[in-house]
Amino acid sequence: MDIILAKPRGFCAGVIRAINIIKQVLNTYKSPIYMNHELVHNNYIVNYLKNHGVIINRNINDIPNGSIFIISAHGASKNIFNNAYKKNLNIFDATCPLVKKIHYRASYANNNNIDTIIIGNPKHQEVLGIIGQYDRTTTYIVESLYDANYIKIKNSSKLCFLTQTTLSVFDTYQIINVLKNRFPNILELGRNNICYATNNRQQVVYKLAKTTDLVVIIGSDISSNANKLAIVAKKYNKNVYMIDNFSYFKKQWLNNINTIGVTSSASTPEFLVKQFIEYIKQYDNMIIKEIILNKEKVLFKLPKIFKTKQNIICYDK
Ligand code: SF4
Repeated sequence: MDIILAKPRGFCAGVIRAINIIKQVLNTYKSPIYMNHELVHNNYIVNYLKNHGVIINRNINDIPNGSIFIISAHGASKNIFNNAYKKNLNIFDATCPLVKKIHYRASYANNNNIDTIIIGNPKHQEVLGIIGQYDRTTTYIVESLYDANYIKIKNSSKLCFLTQTTLSVFDTYQIINVLKNRFPNILELGRNNICYATNNRQQVVYKLAKTTDLVVIIGSDISSNANKLAIVAKKYNKNVYMIDNFSYFKKQWLNNINTIGVTSSASTPEFLVKQFIEYIKQYDNMIIKEIILNKEKVLFKLPKIFKTKQNIICYDK
């Protein structure tokens, strides 16, 4: 049996940066350490942090003044930052620089009286953070082609759109086309906001799905990125499973299978993929191959640590 590993897979530059920040914090400060949200959407990482004294999703009003407070890779609203300043929290900002870029675009729209259609999941932390950059202009959420076709806009003369970074590339292009047809003057702020890591992982899972009998995605169901990999793969392959780790794998999935495609989401640690491969080898003489889309070279610098007036002691410069 052949195992075909997707490349690139696993951690993106934003997740690597967020994890390096939290490592630095855990090495320097004692618990409790507070977070606005899960650092990244992977159950193994979330449980690891909880076991190391990180308290996640605590209402900011209940966090003691002066505590250590980490903003997750998905970013946060202006309100969260303002409340954190008021409470004199020491803020470590692990927002992915690519999400920050969207915040700058959102602030530009807000400051220039441009209403915004945000394409994404209204419950996702990243989208909540983007909406939270606005206090002057109107935001609308479009989650599907149906929304794009029927959403009612009060005034489309000054309108732009932004997207979440981890959407399905194909579905999002369709949504954007509908919006452009309905609102010919709609502005595209910057280029597409779907990030390079999402693009690459979806392109390679498409190839895996077309060339293998079974696709296994190592990732958590809380991850938008992992779920979108499953959506793309399921369009081309009927045997697609997303699992947190090897222990969820079922032997019967191997019935009548000659090739297994394996990939992982942008927040999945590589050791979970290796563990899975070791586990699966017990069932057959596996030959391991790779399908390579490209070699990612994106790397975000670790923020310098210093204290700003607003008490941000970890800040990108
Ligand atoms: S998936 Fe993209 S936007 Fe999200 S953390 Fe990774 S690089 Fe940043």
